[in-house]
This record gives sequence, C-alpha cells and structure tokens, in this order.
Amino acid sequence: MSGAEGRLAAIQERIAAACRIAGRDPAEVRLLAVSKTFSAEAVREVHAAGQLAFGENKQQEADPKIAVLPADIEWHFIGGLQRNKVRKVLQTFHCIHSIDSLRLAETVDRIAGEMGRKAPVYLEVNLGGETSKGGFSSIDLRESASALAALEHLDLLGVMAIPPADGDPRGWFARAREIRDTLSAETGLKLPGLSMGMSGDFEAAILEGSTIVRVGSALFGSRHYP
Ligand SMILES: *Cc1c(COP(=O)(O)O)cnc(C)c1O
Repeated sequence: MSGAEGRLAAIQERIAAACRIAGRDPAEVRLLAVSKTFSAEAVREVHAAGQLAFGENKQQEADPKIAVLPADIEWHFIGGLQRNKVRKVLQTFHCIHSIDSLRLAETVDRIAGEMGRKAPVYLEVNLGGETSKGGFSSIDLRESASALAALEHLDLLGVMAIPPADGDPRGWFARAREIRDTLSAETGLKLPGLSMGMSGDFEAAILEGSTIVRVGSALFGSRHYP
C-alpha cells in the first residue's frame, strides 16, 4: 500500500465509522479531497489510490495542476469567488461550493445560461455571523429564497458551511442543516446536499447529515502556506 493509499483508506474508515454511529449509509457521504497548497504530484498519488473528487480554492493555483493531471478528476471550487472570475471557474470546475451572495448567484446563473448549461452549486451560509467569512446569513437566505429558486441555470445542490473555530462544531452543523431544511421547505427545492466538515470536524458533520466532507490536511499532511 502506498502512503497515499493508506491515508485515503484511513479517512474512508473514519467516514464509515461516523456513518455507523449516525446510522447512515456510507454511500451517502462523499469525500472531497482538498488539494489547495499541495502539489500536482500529491494529487496524482491520491487519485491513483482511487480518489476522484478534488477541491481547490483559487483558479490560478488550480490551473497548472489541472493541466497535468488525469482528465477524469472532478474538480470542485471551494474558495471566495469574484464575479469577474465566474466564467473561467465554470469552464474549469464541476461545481461551486461557495456561492455567498444573491449577486454572485445571479452572475453564475447568467453565465451558465450563456454557456447553455446548468451550474451545480452550494449556497454558503455564514453560521456565526463572522465578518472574516463570506456567506449568507440565515436572514439573507430567507429574503433571497424566492429569487434564488427562480434562477433557472443553477442546480441548487444544498448548503455549504464552515463553523466558527470556537465552540462545539456539531451544534453549528445542526444549525446549517436546519437552515437548509427551512430553505427547502420555503422554496420547494430539494436541496439534498450539505457540504460540511473539514479535517478537524468531519465526523461531527457526518453526525448532523453532511453529504460531502472537504478534507485537506488529514489526507495530504500539514499545509505550508507560501
Ligand atoms: C482548506 C479548506 C478545507 C480543508 O481544510 P482542512 O482543515 O485542511 O481539512 C475545506 N474547506 C474549505 C472551504 C477550505 O478552504
């Protein structure tokens, strides 16, 4: 077993264990391998071990990796997104986890429409009202619900959340699920997805219904920012 195979298997076992505790089918929880700051070579090893979905938070950093990596990788965009970067992101990435305002949602909808397609997206919610983080507050989301639901070129998959660093993550994840449930009830949209849980808290997220965990350092090793 290569190092990457062992690390991937260990994360998958932890996901499966959390699913057993939650009484959930492990097939309901996907792993997104967050490869930001890690090399194309590191991605290649994890891909060779069987992982297909990878997350990046910057177009510029992702481009040279994507160029040299196998075409069957499914790339997910998880970073802050400026409206002038949307077209390129839609050309490059399979889905966007970080739609943090109605204005951005409208831009993605318009450009996806120009491209003759639908864009799969998650709506990012700002659980703790932190100004350092983007995202809809639960009030914003309520006010924007009908406008969001009317965007024909968005495939609204659900909600994405990053809980505040302090406090019990599980409570925040439960809150994200409630926000999703409320939005779903108000709009009639299914919103099946919950993108939540990172290296330090993905088991808690699975207990609260996460359908895709975004795991970087627990899989690739510790991250060194340039
Ligand atoms: C970096 C990042 C992750 C992964 O973080 P780890 O703690 O390394 O698992 C997940 N989601 C987003 C949005 C990120 O930026």
